[in-house]
Amino acid sequence: LAIESTKMTISDTLEIASPSGKTLRVPTGLFINNKFVPSVDGGTLETINPATGASLGHVSCASASDVDLAVSAARTAFNTTWGRNSSPSQRAACLFKLASLLEEHAVELSELESLDNGKPRWIAETMDIADTAGCFRYYAGLADKIEGKTIEQKEGEKLAFTKLEPLGVCGQIIPWNYPIGMLGWKVAPALAAGNCIVLKPAEQTPLSALRIAELSVEAGLPAGVFNVINGLGPVVGDAITGHMDIDKVAFTGSTAIGKRVMERAARSNLKKVTLELGGKSPVVVFDDADLDQAVNWAALGILFNQGQDCTAGSRLFVQEGIYDKFLPKLVAAFKAHAIGDPFSDQTFQGPQITQRHQQRILDYIESGKSEGAKLEIGGGPWSASDGKGDFDKGFFVQPTIFSGCKKGMKIVDEEIFGPVLAVAKFKTEEEGIALANDTSYGLGAGVFSTNASRCMRVASAIQAGTVWVNNYVVVSNAVPFGGFKASGIGRELGVDAIKEYTQVKSIHWNYGETLDWPLTG
Ligand code: NAD
Repeated sequence: LAIESTKMTISDTLEIASPSGKTLRVPTGLFINNKFVPSVDGGTLETINPATGASLGHVSCASASDVDLAVSAARTAFNTTWGRNSSPSQRAACLFKLASLLEEHAVELSELESLDNGKPRWIAETMDIADTAGCFRYYAGLADKIEGKTIEQKEGEKLAFTKLEPLGVCGQIIPWNYPIGMLGWKVAPALAAGNCIVLKPAEQTPLSALRIAELSVEAGLPAGVFNVINGLGPVVGDAITGHMDIDKVAFTGSTAIGKRVMERAARSNLKKVTLELGGKSPVVVFDDADLDQAVNWAALGILFNQGQDCTAGSRLFVQEGIYDKFLPKLVAAFKAHAIGDPFSDQTFQGPQITQRHQQRILDYIESGKSEGAKLEIGGGPWSASDGKGDFDKGFFVQPTIFSGCKKGMKIVDEEIFGPVLAVAKFKTEEEGIALANDTSYGLGAGVFSTNASRCMRVASAIQAGTVWVNNYVVVSNAVPFGGFKASGIGRELGVDAIKEYTQVKSIHWNYGETLDWPLTG
């Protein structure tokens, strides 16, 4: 079940018959120096449609030698056409163009993303791709607003000022849950600041990045600025994190691999690191919350993207006064949405990413049952009853709620990354905060109450990089995102992301001070 590199002859373009009737065309090669090339060792990678279990085809799978080629292309571009040899407005123009191209190709890209990842096509189009176009536009707008500061020293003698300079070549390793979204969060700020990129998509979802690479040429990015190399984490990921000519690595994925990334970055050339890792995010609902709204947001919080979201609100704490009214409404909300065909505009929940991941989630569900939590709804694989479209072979999981959950249960302590919610009751505000913070993670959190003072107190007391008050899971390109505790290091999105892709140079400027020699007391 693990994804492996194979060797087979593949054509330069993969043609996929979409359920919409279109033929989707994706280049299969590694994208290095604005060209699609086969991998040095002829390795290939198969990608599967999670909704049906059917193969979508093969693309090139890189080895460490391909990483060297991509890094060298990126370094050359950084020293010649990009970095200090490009103007901010020139970089902005490319990013604005790429944003428009994403919008122009939104339907095609959404079909590709849905087939490769399993997410509903309409969500890919209206959220993933629309937000990613917005992300490129946001950083295009920031490209010529990256500013240092002047620091007064002594009038008539000395002045100091700072410049923000690009880091150089950035390795970017992204996960499969938002293949286009995570590409945007990483690529847009890095390019705006003048860096060159070697991007490794997740092996489960190699397709959309290849099509975007093709569009990046149309957007005017010079050769070598943006390189995409599909491949396996232990091979290509390790080659990136240990590379001596990569200046920074940005990683999104599991906490276990995040630790490895940081270790290898430190042991090689001490490259800079940003990490966006896992979570076990709490949602705390107080007695005075707007009941129906809290139910809707809590359901969205755990079920959005099939629960495969690093901020998934997977631990729900409901105050005792509202609990008995809240739980049946939440169960009803879990029953109400449509599961199945990702190409139907009625579908909210598609399949999990792989059969292996589906099994992992089902194992967690079994652990919840055996460790004494009470199953309220769901609890197993979902299969299509109408037999249409081969969805009975897809990797679906029933939306699942456990109540009576306690610390020590695996479903409470570990990130499941699926549509599985652990619910518990609490009495006081202090207890709610303590339960919310009782985790090694600190990515997201939700607070529901109509008492503004309580919302402010609790939002301040919760240890998380993002706290949503009376809403959940919705992010904005303009607002920084990242983790407290074991959920990560650094911030993506907003102006903060520019800081992660630049380094400060301080310049001390003497325009009047003289030095006499030799120095004496
Ligand atoms: P993962 O961490 O293994 O994979 C994420 C990315 O890291 C992929 O591109 C992968 O190829 C790469 N990678 C794997 N090994 C690597 C290595 N040695 N060096 C560098 N990069 C490497 O995650 P996964 O196995 O796909 O999923 C496992 C769990 O990770 C999930 O169940 C979930 O808990 C978590 N996860 C979190 C996020 C997130 O957005 N924070 C995303 C995906 C997965």
